Amino acid sequence: MIQMQDVWKTYPNGVMAVNGISIYIKKGEFVYVVGPSGAGKSTFIKMMYREEKPTRGEISIDGKSLSSTKEKHIPFLRRKIGVVFQDFKLLPSLSVFENVAFAMEVIEESKANIRKRVMNVLDIVRLKNKARFLPHELSGGEQQRVAIARAIVNNPAVLIADEPTGNLDPETSWEIMHILEEINDRGTTIVMATHNRDIVDSMRKRLIAIEGGRISRDEIRGTYSYES
Ligand code: ADP
Ligand code: ADP
Repeated sequence: MIQMQDVWKTYPNGVMAVNGISIYIKKGEFVYVVGPSGAGKSTFIKMMYREEKPTRGEISIDGKSLSSTKEKHIPFLRRKIGVVFQDFKLLPSLSVFENVAFAMEVIEESKANIRKRVMNVLDIVRLKNKARFLPHELSGGEQQRVAIARAIVNNPAVLIADEPTGNLDPETSWEIMHILEEINDRGTTIVMATHNRDIVDSMRKRLIAIEGGRISRDEIRGTYSYES
């Protein structure tokens, strides 16, 4: 599903953020990415959704190489990948419904079908009853659920989450995790960067630890720090 082969990333200012990473993530996996601040986690996952290009190395998603994909085909590739951020990134003047509908790829789709699909994903994140609300009328956890609905509305093969619980209290963080787990159970591959030790240690998944731009650990059911 996601393959990286000897991937390097040096930013224009000379910072070497990722230094030779190779990974293979299978379809349907749930993967945590952990590591200290500045370790290269964001750069690593930004390259997966092509927000950043590697300086060297190969990345492919679903068998399609990112580097050989022509610019004009990038939107098609992006449709395979949904992204969720720590700070939600909702459009403040649009309702919950509109935020999700706006992200939907609408190719000769009837209004009724758009409505059906949007309400369907709002149901998954349990926000059907708040479809008309504006983002500022929602709690942080609810806003993140809208962002998740937006990220899955095009049925992506992969959902990438960069510290999705970073701005949320523990209880709300768990709600978000249960929703992500449900989405994973439906077959979507999930890659999630996180600093949340509690979640990582209680909801055990594959864990990739990054330090100094390299993979320092890759464990099937890892813990946040080394078990002593
Ligand atoms: P993490 O997500 O683990 O905190 P990042 O991938 O954000 O790590 O950053 C890795 C290194 O790359 C850090 O030294 C950071 O300062 C640097 N970096 C991140 N983004 C940029 C950028 N756009 N330009 C230059 N350096 C950057
Ligand atoms: P920009 O490149 O200026 O962010 P986009 O059209 O790519 O503009 O994104 C529009 C909105 O959708 C933004 O809020 C962005 O954060 C969000 N977004 C972009 N790509 C994705 C994606 N693959 N999945 C979910 N949301 C996305």
